[in-house]
Amino acid sequence: MQPAPPAYKCSNCGRTTTYARLRCLNCRGETFEAAALPDTATLLTLTEIHQLPVGFDERFLRVGIVEFAGGARAMGWVTFEGAETGTQVEVRWEPIRDSDGEPVYGFAFYPEA
Ligand SMILES: [Zn+2]
Repeated sequence: MQPAPPAYKCSNCGRTTTYARLRCLNCRGETFEAAALPDTATLLTLTEIHQLPVGFDERFLRVGIVEFAGGARAMGWVTFEGAETGTQVEVRWEPIRDSDGEPVYGFAFYPEA
């Protein structure tokens, strides 16, 4: 079974974020519960990285930031050409590389089906 993407909802105000936070950026609440993310999001921005650190076999990576309905944002790998600001993408949480033989999970963005 695939692990779920790291998404949390503030128990006080309901704001959803990706990755764990010490405090809610909206209300400063300190308690969170696991949340589900939509399967699609809107690409806010993207760029290409040509000087990759050790551990990446690709010549370059196209990375972007998406916003889900409800406002949560995530950075991840844009897997296809032709994406631009405003493109709707399908979001997957999947192994994006290996570290010492162990998969490292991250957000990956695909063309919306
Ligand atoms: Zn909050």
